[in-house]
Amino acid sequence: MPCPLCGGHDVVAVLRDTTARRITAAATVACTSRDHARFGQIVACRACGIRFRSPREDDETILSYYSAVEDPVYLEQEAARRLTFGRALVELEARVPIRGPLLDVGCYTGVFLDVAAARGWDVRGVEPSRWAAGVAISKGHRVHHGTLGGSPPAFRDFAVVTMWDTLEHYADPVRELRRAREVAARGGYLVLSTMNIDSAVVRLLGRRWPWYMRMHLAYFTPRTVRAALAAAGWEMVDQSGYAHVVSWDYLLLKLGAYLPAAARRLRAAARRFRSGDRTISVDLGDFMTVYARATT
Ligand SMILES: [Zn+2]
Repeated sequence: MPCPLCGGHDVVAVLRDTTARRITAAATVACTSRDHARFGQIVACRACGIRFRSPREDDETILSYYSAVEDPVYLEQEAARRLTFGRALVELEARVPIRGPLLDVGCYTGVFLDVAAARGWDVRGVEPSRWAAGVAISKGHRVHHGTLGGSPPAFRDFAVVTMWDTLEHYADPVRELRRAREVAARGGYLVLSTMNIDSAVVRLLGRRWPWYMRMHLAYFTPRTVRAALAAAGWEMVDQSGYAHVVSWDYLLLKLGAYLPAAARRLRAAARRFRSGDRTISVDLGDFMTVYARATT
C-alpha cells in the first residue's frame, strides 16, 4: 500500500504478526473487539515517518465490514463510555472557543451525541454501522448512516466536528480529514482522539501493545497527525491526553485476550464482590486528543 500520509512507496517493515494478516469478519472491527496484538504487518514510511498496516484489505471490503458490524458488548459498557465522553467534552469546552452545530463522525450508538446534547449542543452524527446508526437514531438523534463523503447536503457549516477514536480506522485518513473540513464552518474546529505511538508504553510493550490490531490501519504521533491535518486544511492548535473510563469487568474481559485463565478467575472474583461495575480511568499516554482549527 502507498503511504496514507504522503503517498510515498518507500517503506520498511517494523512489526510483523503472521497469525492474522487479514480482516475476515465484521466482529474484528467492532469497537469492543478483542483482536489484540494481531495486526498483520506494520510498516513505516521512510519519507514522512507514519506507520501503517500493509498489506491490507481494499477500501470497499473494509467499509463492508464496518457497515455490517454489531456490538452488543458496547451497549453493556455504555455507562463507562458516557464518563469517557463526559470528560472529553469538558476538555473540549475548555479549549474550543466557539459554540454551534456539532457533528460527531463515527458516532457509533450515539453516546457522545447523548452527552453533548444534554449539555446544550445541537448535534448530528455520521456512522457506517447500520446497527449502531440505528441505535443512535432510535434515541432521536439525527444520524447519517454511511460515511462523511456521502453525507446529505444539510450536513454543512458545523462549528465543531469531532472524531473519537476514528482516524486510525480510515484507509485514507487525509481524505476523511479533508471531508471534515468541507462540512465545517469557516473558522470551525476539529477535535479528535487517536493513539499516540510516540509514547513510553508503546515502546516498552513493543508488539505486545494491545492496540496493534487489524482494524487499526494508521498509527499517528503528534508530528504525523499535525502533518495529516495540515494536508487537509486544518491547523493543529492544541493537544492533550485522552483517558478511557472502563469498568473493571470490561478491563478484565480485555485482559483475557492475553491471560485467559487469570482474567476468567479475576472476573469471577470481581462479580462475587460486585465490583465489576466500578470504573477506572486509564491514561497511559498512548492516546492523545488533538484540537485543530480550519485554516480557510
Ligand atoms: Zn509517508
